[in-house]
Amino acid sequence: MPDEKDQESVIDDVTALAKGLKTTLGEFFSPVVTTMYPEEKSPRAERYRGRHYLRRYDNGLERCIGCELCAAACPVGCILVIAAENTEEKQVSPGERYAKTYEINMLRCIFCGYCEDACPVQAIVLGPEYEMSDVSREKFIFTKEKLLEPLPPDVEARLKSKEQK
Ligand code: SF4
Ligand code: SF4
Repeated sequence: MPDEKDQESVIDDVTALAKGLKTTLGEFFSPVVTTMYPEEKSPRAERYRGRHYLRRYDNGLERCIGCELCAAACPVGCILVIAAENTEEKQVSPGERYAKTYEINMLRCIFCGYCEDACPVQAIVLGPEYEMSDVSREKFIFTKEKLLEPLPPDVEARLKSKEQK
């Protein structure tokens, strides 16, 4: 015959087992929260700071006027701007100057967003893209041609609504 102590021990074990099963079953029937990345992507916050873009006006002119304020504001010195004069034959931006060269070294960038804040014409902006892995250092130098790619539509809409305020 099991004594009283053995009976208490069995009850404790069964209780512990039941508690464990309750947790397991609770998780089994609760909604799945795992995101099947990379097929599924979790949404970014509206003001998420990812890959940069250089914007154009609706008439196609580049917004950047080559003022270098973004480069001056960058705390890690990863922006290179070399400006050139607009001419009657070659009008690239609405101002007197445009960025002949515009480069960002993404390996140095800390995605602080200071460049976007410093830009007087909202030319440089940070978008929602965060997948930028690559296999060579050279590919992390984002040139003007690469940065001038069209903005994702949701970012363009956000910036347009900001301008209208
Ligand atoms: S996000 Fe910050 S670190 Fe990156 S380029 Fe802009 S100012 Fe520099
Ligand atoms: S991106 Fe803006 S701040 Fe930077 S050089 Fe162009 S106009 Fe000036």
